[in-house]
Amino acid sequence: MKIYLNGKFVSKEEAKISVFDHGLLYGDGVFEGIRAYDGVVFMLKEHIDRLYDSAKSICLDIPLTKEEMIDVVINTLKENNLKDAYIRLVVTRGVGDLGLDPRKCKEPTIFCIAVPMEPLLGEDGIRAITVSVRRLPVDVLNPAVKSLNYLNSILAKIQANYANVDEAFLLDDKGFVVEGTGDNIFVVKNGVLKTPPEYQSILKGITRDVVIELAKEEGIEVREVPLTLHDLYTADELFITGTAAEIVPVFEVDGRVINNKKVGEITKKLREKFKEIRTKRGIKIQ
Ligand SMILES: *Cc1c(COP(=O)(O)O)cnc(C)c1O
Repeated sequence: MKIYLNGKFVSKEEAKISVFDHGLLYGDGVFEGIRAYDGVVFMLKEHIDRLYDSAKSICLDIPLTKEEMIDVVINTLKENNLKDAYIRLVVTRGVGDLGLDPRKCKEPTIFCIAVPMEPLLGEDGIRAITVSVRRLPVDVLNPAVKSLNYLNSILAKIQANYANVDEAFLLDDKGFVVEGTGDNIFVVKNGVLKTPPEYQSILKGITRDVVIELAKEEGIEVREVPLTLHDLYTADELFITGTAAEIVPVFEVDGRVINNKKVGEITKKLREKFKEIRTKRGIKIQ
């Protein structure tokens, strides 16, 4: 395995960063999870745009152009001879002192890892619970920033682990359901597809945006509206989306069974469409 680290490709054993890196000391940094399908890096431009937006939002100047960053991803796949892979692209604040002041960090740390990976939660329907950990409000730490500070999601995941289910759903500070630990939520009710809107404590998933587009192409009505637990419990179909998980049906939430634990028609259709387009939208490894 070859890992890109600050301009060089190194072995897994050599891919080490300083204990003074603020990515480690403070979770100060941003990242993307990206997939390549059959030699096409799916929605790579959109992932790079979101990475630079996340970085700008936290005043982190990335010393590479977007074009150079695209090459980092493509070259990491080439170095590892991978056509189908999960890619983790990370930019940290870099090495500083033990204080949190980012001005002490002179050079961001950039690394890129590519590994073969099956869909994170498998292909079957999953069980989920809502947890007591709330998603961070936009005025505390905006979930729109895909940052290395993931404890909010990890604490939610720990509750799901204790309950022996696959995924945790988080509510926002008002009690609306906003997202999973690393994925967006969709419900289908009477043929209408619904998902929480952009400004409601969510990370605006690229898979989410693609699913909305595919649904519209299919003539399915899409509404970006706040969702309550009632909407989830009474859904005809329920699924989550994310780069690592892809599109995963949810068969049970807080003990309520959804669609008799069967994959719903609209979920099935969107999964098929997603499989068709995922090798068509993105940047080809040349
Ligand atoms: C990355 C992420 C998602 C999914 O975004 P994709 O772009 O579809 O991978 C959803 N929620 C959170 C908290 C995330 O970090």
